[in-house]
Amino acid sequence: FNVPAIKNEPVKSYLPGSPERIELKKALEEARSKVIEIPQYIGNKEIFSQNKHAISPPHDHQHVLGYFHEGTGEDVKNAIGAALEAKENWATMRWEQRASIFLKAAELIAGPYRAEINAATMLGQSKNAYQAEIDSACELIDFLRLNVNFMRDIYEQQPESSDGVWNRMEYRPLEGFVFAITPFNFTAISGNLPAAPALMGNVVLWKPAFTQVYSAHVIMKVFKKAGLPDGVINMILTDGPVAGEIIFKHADFAGIHFTGSTRVFQTIWKTIGENIPVYKSFPRIVGETGGKDFVLAHKSADAKAVATGLIRGAFEYQGQKCSAASRAYIPSNLWEEIKEFMIKDLAEITMGGVEDFSNFVNAVIDEKSFDKITSYIEKAKESDVTEIISGGNYDKSKGYFVEPTIIRAFQPDYVTLCEEIFGPVLTVYVYEEDKFEDIIPVIDSTSPYALTGAVFATDRYAIQYATDHLVNAAGNFYINDKPTGAVVGQQPFGGARASGTNDKAGSVLNLLRWVSPRAIKETL
Ligand code: GLU
Repeated sequence: FNVPAIKNEPVKSYLPGSPERIELKKALEEARSKVIEIPQYIGNKEIFSQNKHAISPPHDHQHVLGYFHEGTGEDVKNAIGAALEAKENWATMRWEQRASIFLKAAELIAGPYRAEINAATMLGQSKNAYQAEIDSACELIDFLRLNVNFMRDIYEQQPESSDGVWNRMEYRPLEGFVFAITPFNFTAISGNLPAAPALMGNVVLWKPAFTQVYSAHVIMKVFKKAGLPDGVINMILTDGPVAGEIIFKHADFAGIHFTGSTRVFQTIWKTIGENIPVYKSFPRIVGETGGKDFVLAHKSADAKAVATGLIRGAFEYQGQKCSAASRAYIPSNLWEEIKEFMIKDLAEITMGGVEDFSNFVNAVIDEKSFDKITSYIEKAKESDVTEIISGGNYDKSKGYFVEPTIIRAFQPDYVTLCEEIFGPVLTVYVYEEDKFEDIIPVIDSTSPYALTGAVFATDRYAIQYATDHLVNAAGNFYINDKPTGAVVGQQPFGGARASGTNDKAGSVLNLLRWVSPRAIKETL
């Protein structure tokens, strides 16, 4: 079980004059100057339809980058057929062959496709160059490469044998097909959700978010170029309920790999439950959903470190990370200092299109999201238990721009301290500096989620206390760091409670969900 030694892909700097910056600028110009047509990929076919939808940069919604071709229920049925047809050869293909296709895909993204996929993520999802680089280049490459390591680790797990008996484990793929539903906010997640089950020998129907089709299409092109056989991953662009109606009633439905909202995941789980008698096997249900991620500062914390962690954790990619810091609990002795640092940092931050690399903040994904985020801001402006500390303005005339907004709430159960907003809104609650132990149960109980969280302190007793008493409040817990930016292979990612099944993307734990092992005993 020999695989190449693998390290995390280094992040490129894109400094002025660097070759990667020149290449990326060129890719952006090229993408903006043409109009592309994005089909569905089903088996060996590219399916174009009459039902076309324009794709526009969220920061420039009058510009058309291209069109994606929406599919129908018939297409979904054809995709299931194509997947099941590809299944036999794919499942019996030697694991080295499967691994090498995904390692090749990683090489293509690291090299010739890096600028194209980053440009697609920047324009299609309004992500700045740095955020695109850590996502659609580095994290996606890391998922593809490191998963091969994790696969090897699984295959190496073999039982003991004894005199006259040879025991072994066969890590077969699931019987049937896997359905991957992927979100707009990370191109890396969008690629990993179909790729991880496929690497383990499964065939997949992949439905990217309609707001991420532009970069999803590049991923599909890369998989094809890397030699992925037809039908192993089928990219369908059918509306969710239409696709679900067919997929969740199919006897060969074997598992779902999901990242998206808690509400949709709950509906899917319920639908699967209702259809259990239909399936050949109990389907694997793997999901990463919402978050209401906290930052807790202790009175001993470094104020500057807390402020920087909050600005980056709450506002990078406009707060549209499941892991984004969206509620902060600050001790009264540090509040003024932290507030000043944050206001000063925010005064230096600029907001605008991704084409200008100096913009830290870009647009939120679409109008629906803009309306939801700004309704929380309006509510806070009107409330008498809140104070707007910074920001609060928004404008959708050219793009869906929402200024990074800090709300101070004077009640620990104020709505923006409890509900997921998925936008650039941070709510702060200031607690009496000697009530550290009392604020912990408040953090633990005011939101249903448990994805990420952070504690900032220099006092080791405080760090230990928070770590021990917030044990179920976050699947990814950070000490003296922002709660975003998990690196594949270093901080396996996922949460519990309303945040998902905690199967840790990019780890052995996740890949184990995509196998149905057979234990073989042979008497010699
Ligand atoms: N893995 C990402 C992070 O650590 C978040 C993923 C997500 O938003 O779903 O920031």
